[in-house]
Amino acid sequence: MSGRLAVVGLGPGDARWLTPEADAALGDAEALYGYAPYLDRVPERPTQTRHPSDNREEAARAAAALAEAATGRNVALVSGGDPGVFAMAAAVCEAIERGPPAWRALDVAIIPGVTAMLAVAAQAGAPLGHDFCALSLSDNLKPWDLVERRLDAAAGAGFVLALYNPVSRARPWQLGAAFERLRRHLSPTTPVVFGRAVGRSDARVSVTTLQDADPGAADMATLIIVGSAATRVIARPGRAPLVYTPRSATEAGA
Ligand code: SAH
Repeated sequence: MSGRLAVVGLGPGDARWLTPEADAALGDAEALYGYAPYLDRVPERPTQTRHPSDNREEAARAAAALAEAATGRNVALVSGGDPGVFAMAAAVCEAIERGPPAWRALDVAIIPGVTAMLAVAAQAGAPLGHDFCALSLSDNLKPWDLVERRLDAAAGAGFVLALYNPVSRARPWQLGAAFERLRRHLSPTTPVVFGRAVGRSDARVSVTTLQDADPGAADMATLIIVGSAATRVIARPGRAPLVYTPRSATEAGA
């Protein structure tokens, strides 16, 4: 009997944004793998073994989960948000491509989750209402030059930008450099949304402009949305503003 590996998206925060399919996959699993803080979000079940690991150990974690599934067990590997967005689903595919032939015979299910940019966008209004793109600012797995070229191309083409992995202890200056880069293409008044720990009890969402965007206001749990020339802010009495990008664009991109 061949085993199963479910790569499960937990959504950005608490169980409200966990899909019923993800919940069922977690309940069915005999073994759970994942980055420790994500595994902590999954309720303990006495019939399951748990294998927490460190943030940096994605390849080893994927291989360990696949190896256990190959013994015939039903394994779940958890990711925050969606597993296909800067997360474990691609690490699992990389491991299968490089790994033993038996891993290709496994039943692998990628179970989607609400990714951070959608959760942050929903809190702010509709900033992703027109064309947008998502970038990771982490230069752990790609050179910083490439990040800058992609920022130039995306901002220059009028995309709204969702910036994942803006900072970490090992990457303190990248977000400031990214804002500097974007200021070459975008007006100082371009709306910028900072969404931190959205979906959790300590969630914080703030709206500012590109000229006032403070890199120090972001941490590892923050996703940043930088608007395009078309993005607008509707002020509302006694309520948070609505940031949105209209559904239509002109030739100029605004
Ligand atoms: N697979 C995840 C992304 C992993 S990369 C997803 O689909 O959301 C990790 C980055 O995601 C963080 O640095 C941050 O930019 C963002 N992120 C994850 N959870 C978040 C949350 N609850 N609120 C805001 N940003 C979050």
